[in-house]
Amino acid sequence: MIAMTLAEVAAATGGKLSPNTDASTTVTATVEYDSRKVTTGGLFVALPGERVNGHDYAAKAHQLGAVATIATQEVAGPAIYVADGLTALADLASETLRRSQATVIAVTGSNGKTSTKDLIGQLCASLGPTVATEANFNNELGHPYTVCRTQADTQYLVLETAARFKGNITQLCHIAPPHIGVVLNVGISHLDGFGSIENTAHVKGELPRFLPAEGTAILNADDHRVAAMASETAAEVLTFGIHSPADVRAEKLHTEQGRPHFTLVTPSGTAQVELPLYGTHQVSNALAAAAVAHTLRASAEHIAAELGRVARLSERRMDLYRRGDGITVIDDSYNANPASMTAAIHALANVPTTGRRFAVLGLMADLIDLSDECHHELGKHAAEQGIDHVIAVGDGTQPIIRGAQSSAGSITATHVPQQGDAIDILRQQLRPGDAVLVKGSRYRTWDIADFLRLP
Ligand code: ATP
Ligand code: MG
Repeated sequence: MIAMTLAEVAAATGGKLSPNTDASTTVTATVEYDSRKVTTGGLFVALPGERVNGHDYAAKAHQLGAVATIATQEVAGPAIYVADGLTALADLASETLRRSQATVIAVTGSNGKTSTKDLIGQLCASLGPTVATEANFNNELGHPYTVCRTQADTQYLVLETAARFKGNITQLCHIAPPHIGVVLNVGISHLDGFGSIENTAHVKGELPRFLPAEGTAILNADDHRVAAMASETAAEVLTFGIHSPADVRAEKLHTEQGRPHFTLVTPSGTAQVELPLYGTHQVSNALAAAAVAHTLRASAEHIAAELGRVARLSERRMDLYRRGDGITVIDDSYNANPASMTAAIHALANVPTTGRRFAVLGLMADLIDLSDECHHELGKHAAEQGIDHVIAVGDGTQPIIRGAQSSAGSITATHVPQQGDAIDILRQQLRPGDAVLVKGSRYRTWDIADFLRLP
C-alpha cells in the first residue's frame, strides 16, 4: 500500500477512529484480511466470513504489527469503524490508486484470464515494478486486495477481472480504472449466469466500454464477438490474432517438440518467439500479452525474448511435465469448458511421444441443457484428433463415450463412475512413452492429477 495516516484511511473509507487510536500513525505495509499474513506497519480488515469471524482475530493482527483494524464490530486494539469491510477495502484501493502513477491493465474473457495475466505480469515486470493478481484472485475481495498492494514505485498493475454478474466488470473498473483493457474471448463458460452467449459478450464488453479515449482496448480478432467490441469503445483499438489479420499476430506458426514457434509481428517490428508453453491457445494468450507490452512501448525483440523465458503458469494450467519413467503428463485439471477442452485435446494430440495418448476427461460443469451435446462433441473431437484412449470420469460424461464411438477412428473409450476407477486403469495401462491429459471442471479430476504427480 502507499503510505497514509490512519486519519487518511478513515477519511477514504468514511470510517471513525476508536478513542484509543492515534490518527497520525502511518500505515507502511499493506492491508490483509487474513490475520496470519499481517506484517509490521500494516492494516487488518476484519471480515465476517462464513466459517470464521475476522473480528475475533484483531488482537492477533495487532500483535503481528497491524497499526489498526478496519472493523464493523467492536474489536480489541486500535480500530477504524466502518459500515462495511468489503466496501472499505474497495475505498482504500481507490485511494491507493489515486496516489499512484501505475498504469492499470485489466484482463477479462471466458478462458485464459489467469494464464494471460501471468504472461502480462511477467512482461510488465521486465519493464518496471509490477503488481499483479495472485493466482485466481479476481473477485470482489481479490480485486481490491490486489489494488491495495500497489506501492509508491509501482509502474504496472495487472488485474485479472472476472465477470460473475452483469455490472461486475464496471464495478471493478470503478475501483481501479484501467488504461489498458484486454478481452480474450467469449465462450460457453459461466452460461448459467448469463443465459446466452450474446449476454456473455455484452457483459465482457463492459471492459472496453469503460475505457477512456486515451486508453487502449486490446481485442481478439479471432473471436468475432470480441472483435465487434471495437465499435463500442472510445479507446484506441489494438487487435491480436492467430487466424485473422491483426495488429499483433503470429506468422509461420508451427510446433517443435510440441512447443509453439512463430514470428511475432507487431506494428513496430517483428521477432522470433519460441514459447515454452503448450497449446495453440497459449499462443493466443501470448499475443494478447505481447499487445499489452507493445502498448507500453516494448520492442518486438524485447517481447519475444521475454516470452521465450516465461516461467510456469499458475497451478494445474497446461502444466506439461515428463516423469522419470518416461510418461508425459499434461495437467490442465484446473477447470474445463468446451473451448479449453478442445485446446487441451489439440495439445495432447501434438505433444511428441513414442507411445499412446490418453485423455482422462471429467465433467464440464455449468453447461445446463447444452451439456450432453458438448460432451458428445468432445468425444468425437478426441477421436478425430487421433487420441488412443479416452477415459470419461463421473456422471454426465457418458456422452463423451458415445461421441468418441460415433467417429470412424480406432479410439478406445471407457466410462468410469469415480476418479479412483480411472486411477486403477492408468496404473495398469500406462507405459513409458505414453502421454496423458487430465482435465475436468474444478475438483473433478484433481485426485487423478495428484496421483500422476506421485513419484
Ligand atoms: P477462471 O474463469 O476459472 O478464472 P481463467 O479465464 O482465468 O479461468 P485460466 O485459468 O488461464 O482461465 O485457464 C483455464 C483453462 O482454460 C485452462 O485449462 C487453460 O489451459 C485453458 N485456456 C487458457 N487460455 C485459453 C484460451 N485462450 N482459449 C481456450 N482455452 C484456454
Ligand atoms: Mg482465472
